[in-house]
Amino acid sequence: MADTGQLGAKNINDTTVLFPYGCNDSSCGYCDVTVGNKSYMMMASVDRSPETFLGIKPDDYKALLDRGWRRSGNIIYKPDMRGSCCQEYTIRLKSSTFKPNSKQRKAVNAWSNYVHGIDYKREQAQKYPISRQEKRRKRLAGFNVVERIHEPEYATLKSKNPLEPAHKFEIRLEENTFTQEKYELFEHYQKSIHDDEATESGFKRFLCANPFKPKYSVDEKGRKIGPYHQCYYLDGRLIAVAVLDLLPDCVSGVYFMYHTDFSQWSFGKISALREISLAEEGGYEYYYMGYYIHSCPKMRYKCEYQPSQILDPECYDWHPFDDAFRTVLDSKPYYSPSLEKRVEIEGLDPSTEPYFVERKNITPYPPTEDDTVFTTNMSGVVKKEDIEAIIGDTRILVGRKLAIAEMIVNWEYMDIDIPGSTKNKIAEAIATVGAQLMPKVIICLALGQQ
Ligand SMILES: [Zn+2]
Repeated sequence: MADTGQLGAKNINDTTVLFPYGCNDSSCGYCDVTVGNKSYMMMASVDRSPETFLGIKPDDYKALLDRGWRRSGNIIYKPDMRGSCCQEYTIRLKSSTFKPNSKQRKAVNAWSNYVHGIDYKREQAQKYPISRQEKRRKRLAGFNVVERIHEPEYATLKSKNPLEPAHKFEIRLEENTFTQEKYELFEHYQKSIHDDEATESGFKRFLCANPFKPKYSVDEKGRKIGPYHQCYYLDGRLIAVAVLDLLPDCVSGVYFMYHTDFSQWSFGKISALREISLAEEGGYEYYYMGYYIHSCPKMRYKCEYQPSQILDPECYDWHPFDDAFRTVLDSKPYYSPSLEKRVEIEGLDPSTEPYFVERKNITPYPPTEDDTVFTTNMSGVVKKEDIEAIIGDTRILVGRKLAIAEMIVNWEYMDIDIPGSTKNKIAEAIATVGAQLMPKVIICLALGQQ
């Protein structure tokens, strides 16, 4: 095989390199089953030692988000929405069109009032009254999310007048590194909200590890790109942290935790509005708020951020995430409006689409070592015949050697259907990553040899 320099990956450090894990069947935190949460996983770590080539370029990760993938630390995964106990839909909203509802507006105002305090308000009204012009401007502007979300911040207050508010509230966008203070907040949050024990290694793996290469950058539009912790400090104390991925064109919420001393202030709402504001101010078009699971009542709050969009799990186009869509989900948990329309309009043959196979025929399937995205009829994957046409061109990495799949000895005799075989592994990667993105990706087949 050729050396890494010879096959078009001049700079392998500037290319997405992924290591396929394969199908995974785990317990589900949404409905409490012990198996049944099915997904396909790949490792995309850059933090691993010894040094590997693994890592994902932020724009490629954004493209994967738009095919239903997400990450947990260094691992990226794509849920099998047909086969899983719960259906994890990707949703997003356009920050410029977001309209906060009255509960969301109230939460932001209540927190501002608490931080400012009564004395501050009174003194401000006496010494620095708002001009009629400013009052009129505010009234006409209505509830401006970006403006209102910054109102309790110390820097904002100090830019207006020298008065001291009741509390000093600060927001800092920090790199996603470990600190004892963040860990203690995580430990407290896990215990009090999830009744779960935390570990330092779990915290690092889940909320500090990241797969991006480079880890931090600034794109051509001047936007920060990378994994960040947006930290909330009140009078110097860390009271909440939002774990965020800043990506080309979107802010992706990974996790949010807060201290329960502040439960009454609806930080869930405040943090979502803050992240939408970050997207709006930073020039990231969209805010991705994590998966929406219709069957999980705890997730219903995500419907309140409108207008928003939901990703079609087969055709990967976006639909309004409105009452009509949710009504369909009541009776049809796995729903691809685009594919259903294509059958109707284009005369697509439903018998060739796994989507139309009744769910009861394929699930629950017993988890076995031999599960592949093909044997399990995983949702939204590229069809095998389409994969066969392009699989030979896949760039692969074996140890430090870069090659094209068809250069593998006896490649033409390999059976794509044998679980765990090299050809099967590459086919699964193409099936889930998609034919469009594959030319930008290198599949690492053996980690140990690096
Ligand atoms: Zn579940």
